[in-house]
This record gives sequence, structure tokens and C-alpha cells, in this order.
Amino acid sequence: MSFHFPALPYPFDALEPYIDAKTMGVHYSRHHKTYFDKFMAAIQGTELEHQSLETIFARVSEHSPAVRNHGGGFFNHNLYWQCMSPQGGGQPGGLLAEAIRCHFGSFEDFKTAFSDTAATHFGSGFIWLSVAEGRLEISSTSNQDNPLMDVAEKPGIPILALDVWEHAYYLSYQNKRPDYIDAWWHVVDWDQIEQNYLDTLQR
Ligand code: MN
Repeated sequence: MSFHFPALPYPFDALEPYIDAKTMGVHYSRHHKTYFDKFMAAIQGTELEHQSLETIFARVSEHSPAVRNHGGGFFNHNLYWQCMSPQGGGQPGGLLAEAIRCHFGSFEDFKTAFSDTAATHFGSGFIWLSVAEGRLEISSTSNQDNPLMDVAEKPGIPILALDVWEHAYYLSYQNKRPDYIDAWWHVVDWDQIEQNYLDTLQR
């Protein structure tokens, strides 16, 4: 089997006070692990076992809802954890900073647009910064969909993910999603996201 459940790159309490340890523990050990287990069950014994997630997502509309929902949940959380760090916050540098200025005017304009998209997304889903045909693009998807899926309205290669399901913030922030979004910016790992961006340029 070519998939494995990745270790969280930091302890559960590492993102306090912005994301509390209990939320992290339940989110990673139960929600994310369940997506992984159900995805493994959905592809076991099928040809999908030997495909990459990207290949699976590119034809996800032809697969079962379990592949779409649990495969998406597996991938989306991998990227969400990877995009955060206790050393995060601040602003991006290098080529990513340049690209953000080029496509959004300024980092502050980008941040406002991304936060607005996250705050106004109705119901459960994820907010993305993606690379689409060389452009940077903000988008949102519902449930566990993502921009790599053939069902995405705005397809692209995601480099930054924000989980706006209530399970990501309810214990600390209850219904105040904008407060969670404001806090999340303090732990965004721009070095990692710049690396994700540079990786897309190598493709
Ligand atoms: Mn989640």
C-alpha cells in the first residue's frame, strides 16, 4: 500500500494559544485518522491502491463518494497541518511574496481577500491558495473537495489550505469563525508555503 498516515509535524499544544491542544488532538487523531482509514478501506483491492492522490482526484467524479470524501479528507488535512507551524506568522518572502504582490496588489490585500472568502464560505469546507496556469488564485470548496478534483469549480495546485469545518475551531471559538481565521494567520508557515509554490514551478 503506497499511502501512510503522516505524523503531525509538531505536538498538539504547539499552536497554542491560536489553536488549542484539545482541538488539535481530536482533529488529528480522530477526524483525520478516520478519513485515512475510510479512504484505505474504499480503495483496498482496487486499482486506485497503486495510483497517486493527484491521479485519483483528477477522475474523482468516476469513483465512489467514499473515495471523494475520505480521499479528500486525507489529503486536505495533510496540507492543512503542513501549512502551520509554531514558528509561523508574519509574511512570505522571496518569489512567493513577489507573486502575491503581482496577483493581489499587496500582502494585506491578499490576506483580506483570503479571510473574506473563509468567513463567508457557507458550511463546511476548505479555503485554498492555488497555482492555476501560472496564476495564484484563492478559492473555496465544500465538504472535503479540493482544487485537484475534476469536480472543482476553480481547479489548480493547492499550496495553502485552511480548514473551516466547525471541528477545526468550535471548542475555542464556537460560532466565531472570523476569530479563528484571525488567529490562524499567526501560525501560517510561509517558508513551507513558499516551498510548495516553488515545487509547482518545477512541474
Ligand atoms: Mn478538519
